[in-house]
This record gives sequence, C-alpha cells and structure tokens, in this order.
Amino acid sequence: MKNKNFETQAIRTQIERSQFLEHSSPLYLSSSFVFEDSEDMRASFAEEKEKNIYSRFSNPNTSEFVEKICQMEGAESGYAFATGMAAIYSTFAALLNSGDHIVSCRSVFGSTHTLLTKYFPKWDIQHSYFDVNDIDKVESLIKENTKILYAESPTNPAVDILDLEKLGQIAKKHNLILIIDNCFATPYLQNPIDFGADIVIHSATKLIDGQGRVLGGVAVGRADLIEEIYLFSRNTGPSLSPFNAWVLSKSLETLPVRLDRHCENALKVAEFLEAHEQVNWVKYPFLKSHPQYDVAKKQMKQGGNIVAFEVKGGIEAGRKFIDAIKLCSLSANLGDTRSIITHPASTTHSKLSESDRLQASITDGLVRVSVGLEHIDDVIADLEQALGS
Ligand SMILES: *Cc1c(COP(=O)(O)O)cnc(C)c1O
Repeated sequence: MKNKNFETQAIRTQIERSQFLEHSSPLYLSSSFVFEDSEDMRASFAEEKEKNIYSRFSNPNTSEFVEKICQMEGAESGYAFATGMAAIYSTFAALLNSGDHIVSCRSVFGSTHTLLTKYFPKWDIQHSYFDVNDIDKVESLIKENTKILYAESPTNPAVDILDLEKLGQIAKKHNLILIIDNCFATPYLQNPIDFGADIVIHSATKLIDGQGRVLGGVAVGRADLIEEIYLFSRNTGPSLSPFNAWVLSKSLETLPVRLDRHCENALKVAEFLEAHEQVNWVKYPFLKSHPQYDVAKKQMKQGGNIVAFEVKGGIEAGRKFIDAIKLCSLSANLGDTRSIITHPASTTHSKLSESDRLQASITDGLVRVSVGLEHIDDVIADLEQALGS
C-alpha cells in the first residue's frame, strides 16, 4: 500500500520484517546474498526476478532508503549513492555520450561546476551556462546536441530560486532531460517532478541525514533513465553502503518535524539580519524582499534552512564577523542540527574564478548560515554579538 501522507510515508515505508519481527528496520551488513540452487542463481542474474545478489547492485537497506525517497518525490524508481557527488557524476556519465551538450544554471555546487568545466570536456561533453535571472535565455543556448537541462533550486550558497515550472516547459518542448539538484529543499519542501523534472538528485549528507553523521546521495525519477543510471552504477561501484542507508532511512522518519523547525528558525534569523544595521543585504526564499519570492512561494512549502547575507564593510568586516562567532560552528557542511557559518568565496566555491563567483552571485563578503535546531534565541544572540564586535 502506498502511504498518502508525507509523514506516514517517512515512517511506515519499511522493508519486510525478518523472522524476528523486529519493529525498527534491521541492518543488513552483508556484501552478498545466497541462492537456493543453480536455477535461482541463473534467474537472479538474468533479472527474471527481483532479488538481492550483491550489495553493489542492491541491498535491503539501500532499497528501503530509495523506496522512501521515491514515494516522497513521486518518482518511479531510483538508485542510492555513496555521496551526492557520486549521484551527480554517475547520472551525467550514464546518460551522456561524447559530443553531447549540457545547458546548466551557472549557480551550481562547486564540485558540479568542476565536473562541467574540468572533467567532462575531456570526453568532449560541453556545456553552456545561464544565469539565475536569465531563464528566458535558456532556449537560445539549446543546440542540436543538447541532451540535459540542469539546475539547483534554491541554489548553493546564494539561495536564488529558479522557476521549475518554466524549466519543465522548456525541457519538454526541446525534448531535454531535466535534472534538478533538490538538496536545499529536500523532498519535504519541494517536488521537482511535479513541475516536469525527469530526475531529482539529493545529497543525503545534508538535511536528509540532518545530524552531520554520514555521507550519501540518491537519484530518483523516470524508470527508463534510472535503469541506465542503475546499470552504469552497478558496474562502476559508487553505491551507498548498507550502514549509511540504514542511518538515512531512520533520519527520514524525522525529516518533516526537523524541517518545520529548521525553516521556522531560519525565517527568524533572516528577519533579524534584515533589520540589522551592520548587514548590507539578506537573501532567504520566504522573505518578501527575495527577488524570486513569488516563485519560491509557488514551488516550495517553506523557505528551507539556509540564509545568505553580506556584512557591511567588505571582506575584512566579513572575516571579523566570522572570527567573533562563538556558538555556531565554522564548517563547510550544512543541514545539521548545529548551526553552521560558512564563507563560500574562500571555501566551498574557492575553485571558481572571481568572475565566475560573481556571475553566480557569490560576492567576497557573502556569508552562508545553515540554521540548526538550537534554541533560536541563542543562535540570534551569537550572530548579534558577532555583528556588534
Ligand atoms: C553538498 C552538496 C552536493 C554534494 O553532496 P556530497 O554528499 O557532499 O557529495 C551537491 N549539491 C548540493 C546543492 C550540495 O549542497
């Protein structure tokens, strides 16, 4: 039975119980599975039956995790990866041939940018970038050999919003595969498939784990495309470990309640920063001042947990602010219970040239706050004392 409500899906989608009738899903730390006899073995390898053979192909724990994400995203099928980047790389590699072309938003995760600019050209896979505010230009970038349209929304780290419905219409009209990195929204806040995405990718390392423990990734979507991604991955080995899948499946049970609080806290931080005289600007999808506020409201349930802002006084003032932080962590991760402050220009996006960074709206003074689950008064007090010093 397919569970209808998100919270119930998150909690009640489970692998079959073993003979021990455990309540919580057990952990299947087994690299391989046995066959009844030679016929069972032959039929399993011939894929005449759905059966676990080897944990690089599938495992009960990874299957449970994938099934949950598929239900939450409204996807036909999926495959789980060791990291978000393994999911992104494998999806591109499985679906593209040399000579193919990608149209992508310029504001993508730093390592995705490195894949597009440094590695794919080695196999003659080229790309064209469009800016977040230039969706109308997308069609002019499409060439005869364009196969994939790629974007994140909200973007990392500037939390810009792309109109998923528009991207879906363009992809459909030009017969492109639309791939959306839905990491910042999670399946709870936004379902890109509803707007025409063919594949949705998550770094499960972030809000899906939500507690800063394990790495993971997942790609879900159209069954015919996922079959290609599955076959590529089962042969190349970027698969998620059963242990991490077990952790992530459990994490999904609390995703809705965690996200409700993350979003409530983030909105309070955004409102506090917007009113502060030492702050140049603040961007948060559910602040009325956000340039794409209407689009965010249309496609997201809440604004997420990331707030981007700039301290007055340029890079020096930004550094001073970060050095004065006491409670929040200085770390490159995001989506943790612990609030985290990052300076993207010197860390996650330092491999981009300054002009590439500016075109992706990452100014030198931009600070990214991943708002956690501490008492919000304590987080705001920390930001306040750091801004005042
Ligand atoms: C972190 C992140 C990734 C990469 O995920 P990993 O699990 O670290 O490999 C991809 N996209 C976005 C938007 C991210 O924030």
